[in-house]
Amino acid sequence: MARVEIDRVVKAYGAVQVVHGVSAAIEDGEFVVLVGPSGCGKSTLLRMIAGLEHISEGTISIDGEVVNDVAPKDRNIAMVFQNYALYPHMTVAQNMAFSLKLAGVSKAEMQAKVDNAARILGLEKLLERFPGQLSGGQRQRVAMGRAIVRNPEVFLFDEPLSNLDAKLRVQMRAEIKALHQRLKTTTIYVTHDQVEAMTMADRIVVMRDGVIEQVGSPLDLYDEPANLFVAGFIGSPTMNFIEGRIERGEFVSPAGLRFSAPAGFVDGDVVAGIRPNDVGLDDGGAKLEVAVIEPLGAETQLVLGAGDTQLVALVQGRVPARPGEAVGVTIDPRAIHYFDPISGMRLV
Ligand code: ADP
Ligand code: MG
Repeated sequence: MARVEIDRVVKAYGAVQVVHGVSAAIEDGEFVVLVGPSGCGKSTLLRMIAGLEHISEGTISIDGEVVNDVAPKDRNIAMVFQNYALYPHMTVAQNMAFSLKLAGVSKAEMQAKVDNAARILGLEKLLERFPGQLSGGQRQRVAMGRAIVRNPEVFLFDEPLSNLDAKLRVQMRAEIKALHQRLKTTTIYVTHDQVEAMTMADRIVVMRDGVIEQVGSPLDLYDEPANLFVAGFIGSPTMNFIEGRIERGEFVSPAGLRFSAPAGFVDGDVVAGIRPNDVGLDDGGAKLEVAVIEPLGAETQLVLGAGDTQLVALVQGRVPARPGEAVGVTIDPRAIHYFDPISGMRLV
C-alpha cells in the first residue's frame, strides 16, 4: 500500500514544456482517475510516476520517499498499457510470470502467483494459449495479470480499455473496479473518457494543456465544476452554455431566455450553464422550437432552438413532438451554473 505525492512537477522535452508544475496527492488505497483531452499530458505524468520518463522539475514521492532517481524496477509499481504489450511468442502463463522470472523468484512461488492472478481474472483455462489466440478483453486481462503477480504498491493504467469495443469496455470497467475493491491497491488510471472517470474514480483529476483544472469526487465535479472547461468536459450530453447578462436579479439571454438569478448577483455579463437533464418540458413554460428529436427509448433527447441559441434537453420518457413544433420548457433556476465569460471561472 502506498501514498503517491506529486509536487510541482514539470516536464519539458527540449525547449517545449508539456507539464507545467502539477501537484496532487493520491492517498493510500485510493482509485484516482487522471482525465483530459488527448495531448494534455496524462501519459507523460503517469510515465514520470512509473519512472519511464525523467522528471524535469519538482518531485514525486511514494510513501514519503522521493523517487525521482529510483529506477522503474525499484519503485514497486506495475503499469498496464493501452496496447497490452504482451510477448506474442510466450503463453499466457509465461507472459504473466516473465517479470517474476527476471526477478529470480523460485519456480514454486512463480507458479503460485500466476495461479492466483489467473483465478482472480478468470484466466485459468487460458494459461497455455498464446496472445494471438485470445480476444481483446482476454488480452487485457492477461496484461492486468502481469501487473497483479508483482503485488505492486501502486497500479498505473494508461487508457487500458481504449482498444476494446463499447460493450466490452463497460464490462472491463466493472472488472477493474471490482479488482480494486478486492485488492485495495493504490491506483492511478488515465483516460480521455469522462464516463470512465465518473464511473470508476474515488477522485478525479481533470487536466488540460499540462495543468490541473480541478480535483474532486465525480459528483463534486458534476455538481460544482470550477470553470467552463470542467463544466463542459464532465457530464453527457455536454452542458449547455448560454451567454447573457444579469439584469436586476434576472438572467437574460439575447434570444429572450429569462431565469431568476441567485441572490446577491451584480449586474453584468455571464455564461449560464444548464445540464440537458435539468431542462424539463412543461406546457406552461417558455416556448421553444424543436430542431431535432432523438428517441432513446427510456429517455428522449431534443435540440431546441431559441433564436441563435440552441438548447439540448434530455428528458425522461417519450415526447410526442415533431421537428418544427414548439414545446414549453422549464428550467429550475437553482440547477443553473454561472460562469465569468472572461476568466471562465465559476461564479456560484
Ligand atoms: P496524453 O496522454 O494526455 O494524450 P501525452 O502525455 O502523451 O498526452 O503528451 C503531452 C504532450 O507532450 C503532447 O503535446 C505530446 O505531443 C508531447 N510529447 C509527448 N511525448 C513527447 C516526446 N517524447 N517528445 C516531445 N513531445 C512529446
Ligand atoms: Mg496518453
